Amino acid sequence: MKHIPLAALAFALLAAIPAVAAAADPLTKPIPGDGPKRWNRPQTPMKIHGDTYYVGVAGLSAVLIRSDEGLILLDGALPQSVPMIEANIRRLGFKVEDIKYILNSHAHFDHAGGIAALQRDSGAVVVASPSGAQGLKLGHAVTDDPQAGYAKEATWPPVTTEVRELRDGETLRLGNVAVTAHDTFGHTPGSTTWSWKSCEGDRCLDVVYADSLNSISAPGFHYLADATHGDLAERFRSSIRKVAALPCDILISVHPDVGGVDGKLRQAEKHAEPNPFVDAQACRVYAEHAGKLLDARIAEEKAAAAKATR
Ligand SMILES: [Zn+2]
Repeated sequence: MKHIPLAALAFALLAAIPAVAAAADPLTKPIPGDGPKRWNRPQTPMKIHGDTYYVGVAGLSAVLIRSDEGLILLDGALPQSVPMIEANIRRLGFKVEDIKYILNSHAHFDHAGGIAALQRDSGAVVVASPSGAQGLKLGHAVTDDPQAGYAKEATWPPVTTEVRELRDGETLRLGNVAVTAHDTFGHTPGSTTWSWKSCEGDRCLDVVYADSLNSISAPGFHYLADATHGDLAERFRSSIRKVAALPCDILISVHPDVGGVDGKLRQAEKHAEPNPFVDAQACRVYAEHAGKLLDARIAEEKAAAAKATR
């Protein structure tokens, strides 16, 4: 009888350890703010198509691809998203330890913030564009990032392992899966859109994990040429045209609420068939929206420049 309370105490202590460890984990320490709070809501994980799964939180995408030699994860959302992403992966019957690669769209806290913790927990190799790799290792925006002016307020746990660099058009292979990097410069200098084929039996569809094409920036940054750089607007436009022209049956955007992915997630929770994610227009619509935002942005820059010279 004497041993029972002791055993119970030991059990209670053991059970408490993960909770204490999680609270003290510097790699999942929450980034504060309204945005993070709004984005970091639970999301039921689900199959998107074939071997492609949504494992992100409600407001920030994370996508898992199953190959016959392990898993590929795209993006890690916020540091505080990691426990939810890992639980989503396990809920689908996969193991975090089976993730071989973690790919990043762009090095900002809301897509890269969780990567250091996910890398530690999986032992995966992190993959990004050359500029993206630099940002991941810094844990803040690179100096030529349009949002570099916010760098001090928007830091995240840096990746401390080697980051494999992939350039435009290069492909990462794992078993039967090949994921291609597309340089979609604009939102950040290293912005990368990723694409792959997802098959169900003989039916293979083109999946595009599209990076942000949003021209948001810190005050003082110009896409039009200035003293520090040439015209970046045209390069940005070519990224937008590139996304519009990609073979694309399924679009998953890094922010689900930009590109209609949030509505498709809601729909898929109710009815898996017909698959709401299959949408041949989605990439074009996504690019068109970004093009309009960039037009408005450039018009603003021109108006401000005209005012300044008056
Ligand atoms: Zn961003």
